[in-house]
Amino acid sequence: MANEGLDLKFNTCSCPSQLKITDVRIADIARAPMRCPIIKIYTNQGIEGYGEVRDGANPVYALMLKRLLLGENPCNVDKIFKRIKQFGYHARQGGGVCGIEVALMDLAGKAYGVPAYMLLGGKYRDKIRIYCDTDAGEKDTGEAMGQALLKRKAQGYTFLKMDLGIGQIRDIPGTLSAPLGYLEEQQQAWTNLRQAKASGDAEAERYWTNRSYDYQNIPHPHTMVHITEKGFNALEDYVKTVREAIGYEIPLAVDHFGHIGIEDCIKLAQRVVPYNLAWLEDMVPWQYTEQLVRLRNASSTPICTGEDIYLKEGFQKLIDAGAVSVIHPDLLTAGGMLETKRIGDYANDQGVAVAMHMAETPVACLAAAHTCAALEHFVALEFHSNDVPWWQDMVNYAPGGRIIENGWLTITDAPGLGITSLNDEVLREHLTEEANGEIWKSTEEWDSWITHDRLWS
Ligand SMILES: [Mg+2]
Repeated sequence: MANEGLDLKFNTCSCPSQLKITDVRIADIARAPMRCPIIKIYTNQGIEGYGEVRDGANPVYALMLKRLLLGENPCNVDKIFKRIKQFGYHARQGGGVCGIEVALMDLAGKAYGVPAYMLLGGKYRDKIRIYCDTDAGEKDTGEAMGQALLKRKAQGYTFLKMDLGIGQIRDIPGTLSAPLGYLEEQQQAWTNLRQAKASGDAEAERYWTNRSYDYQNIPHPHTMVHITEKGFNALEDYVKTVREAIGYEIPLAVDHFGHIGIEDCIKLAQRVVPYNLAWLEDMVPWQYTEQLVRLRNASSTPICTGEDIYLKEGFQKLIDAGAVSVIHPDLLTAGGMLETKRIGDYANDQGVAVAMHMAETPVACLAAAHTCAALEHFVALEFHSNDVPWWQDMVNYAPGGRIIENGWLTITDAPGLGITSLNDEVLREHLTEEANGEIWKSTEEWDSWITHDRLWS
């Protein structure tokens, strides 16, 4: 019996057709490894559903939807999703809609006594391959990265990812060209922001937050940052050194190239062909379909994007244009579990590989894992929290078991996401400053504000 011995802290004798949402509350978690607001949806039958707002996003994205949820039956997942999806958008702005959808799926699974993957049509696999995003540590060199990745390999991971781009060569003279002073000004804005925060100067902090935002929001084609031949040589050496450390057999994906234009991306994509990379991720913003097509056609290294795309249409456009070899949705942006299943099915049909982005708590991780299990073809699920020792302790899962062990996640048959309860003691120890030490506090200010919500007349 898969559920034997599980501490099932929910009502297994519920009456699903009479189930109603009564409240929505938040535990706003910090450094898990990002800000991760966990959502709890309460019902009239004592069952609770767990969801999560996208990493780095604000709980308000979920709370603003509360008025549309109260009194509704959470088992009508698609009906509620259609009602709230107008309030989602790309990247973090999809976080509220998608996090609520996950909590509804958890509730529907618990109410009917089935694991969430059953609500997606059943599973193709019991174990999900996890890949672990990896930092080199303080000194970001090919040698350090090689050693860091070897440690991941020793921990059982069978698929790896690292960063490679202007961040790795910024401090090597002669590797980058840019309008003179541009890179230094950008660096100075970040330094000033850090100092303003440390000194508690609120006005300066606001000013330098805005200036840093200005720099960070110059898209790739407009920075005029170029990598020199010396820079390309340094980046190629970096990858070569890493490959010499970890070998060529294990897949190695690469991310975070920095804001460089398409021509430099093409050059780099051609340079790294001999190093057998699994994919190059988000080299240019996903909105530039034509540029991604150029990039994909210019190199034999697979091109990947998707963690900031909301809803199937965005993925469909890229897949139809032949812009990607791999898609990489985060279901807390893509549209939740059902929509990500639809996206994955479409990619499967069109011969595009599916991996999954995830940088959140076990709630989002398990929602992703159930969705990965329900896809016919699936590559690997991302994990950012290998070095966060309390990550798993936020939830109570299978008795005595770890959620991720030896580079794999095993799904249980427990209802919903398989989380038997949340561990409030651990959550309380890791709250954001804004939470003021409180979890699950009243959100009644979001109960009743009314506005005419419709995208047409
Ligand atoms: Mg990424």
